[in-house]
Amino acid sequence: MSEQLTYCEVHPDRETSLRCNKCNRLMCPDCAVSTPVGYRCKQCVRQQDDKFFTAGQNDYVVIAAVCGILSGIATAIIQQIGIPLLFIIFAAIPVGGGIAELALRLTKRRRGRQSAKIAAASVVVGAIIGMLVPTIITYQMFPPLELIWLMFVADFRLILFVGILAYFAYSRFKMRA
Ligand SMILES: [Zn+2]
Ligand SMILES: [Zn+2]
Repeated sequence: MSEQLTYCEVHPDRETSLRCNKCNRLMCPDCAVSTPVGYRCKQCVRQQDDKFFTAGQNDYVVIAAVCGILSGIATAIIQQIGIPLLFIIFAAIPVGGGIAELALRLTKRRRGRQSAKIAAASVVVGAIIGMLVPTIITYQMFPPLELIWLMFVADFRLILFVGILAYFAYSRFKMRA
């Protein structure tokens, strides 16, 4: 036998000839991560992520504020005007992506590991507040929880709108551009 067997550096019992194209370490298919620039080991991918994820606490605050406020305004508008379901779908996609894009620009495109989740959660929380504010102003009181729940489930358009909004805001932050 002229060829020597090689094994995964993490799993010494697994034979492999696959190497990380950055640090050259041997890795089994379980340890390899497929990236746009080829197979890399988990350590190299994490290092790359650390360089990519540069957002700090302040960026998270900006993301939450922008996504929450704009989603609240958009949802309040959708709630007040009776626009058809199909239009809502077409409106929610650019609005969700646009809100996230604005938040990205305001934070100089810095991302954090939690950016996408914070954006999506803020969109949902902002939407609920956006629905409540007109009611509070109209009735001069905070509506009981049952009413809040009814307002939400009674209008399927709103659930759809907020869902699409949150999904596209989330996706925008997951995109590496
Ligand atoms: Zn590597
Ligand atoms: Zn392995």
